[in-house]
Amino acid sequence: MVELELMTKKTVPFSSTLLEKAEGLIQTGKIVRIAEDVYYAKSVHDPTRYSMVKKADDLTWTCVCRGFQRRKICSHAIAALMLESAEKARLMGV
Ligand SMILES: [Zn+2]
Repeated sequence: MVELELMTKKTVPFSSTLLEKAEGLIQTGKIVRIAEDVYYAKSVHDPTRYSMVKKADDLTWTCVCRGFQRRKICSHAIAALMLESAEKARLMGV
């Protein structure tokens, strides 16, 4: 199991399979930022379906997909978080 701190509040455990899925979403361009704290993710299996990941006021990420409702984590949320930290690193010139 891998643990990723969802911003500052909580640590949610998830499988490395989910992490690989998240990396896949990023590599294939299936997740894009559409607003400051909102990411839009296309379904890997069904291009007509999509998910939305948003950063809440308490700085935790939530996703509208069923997987997230069930497990409190999903590949979309992980991908959004990875993109977010990559963006931060870029801004800081790392
Ligand atoms: Zn999701």
